[in-house]
Amino acid sequence: MSDCIFCKIANHEIPSTTVYEDDDVIAFRDLDPQAPTHVLVIPKKHYANICDGVPAQTLAAMTHAIDEVVKAEGIDKTGYRVISNAGADAGQTVMHFHMHVLGGKKLGMGLL
Ligand code: IMP
Repeated sequence: MSDCIFCKIANHEIPSTTVYEDDDVIAFRDLDPQAPTHVLVIPKKHYANICDGVPAQTLAAMTHAIDEVVKAEGIDKTGYRVISNAGADAGQTVMHFHMHVLGGKKLGMGLL
């Protein structure tokens, strides 16, 4: 989608702090981090949210990316949280499917 900021990040049209990338997925640091590690994992192709017909292969690629990110961040053993907001009531502000990966501290229940 031409006006989607995450599509622009996926296409390298605007900069991001990329921490992982493959053919299907890109992972980059959130602009407004809520924890020492706060990375967004997105499919390069546009889907509005997790239930917008995302192929199983893409979900598997995102899971793989999360695994790579948490290992690289050193939080695979200490623990981390994966959140995906869908729709206004959940607080989704960017309408391109993304998973928040949070960690690096003891997480309370209020994050995102
Ligand atoms: P949501 O509220 O679940 O939709 O999360 C959107 C997230 O995207 C928020 O945590 C924002 O801080 C983050 N965000 C918005 N624009 C950018 C950007 O250009 N780069 C990195 N993170 C962004």
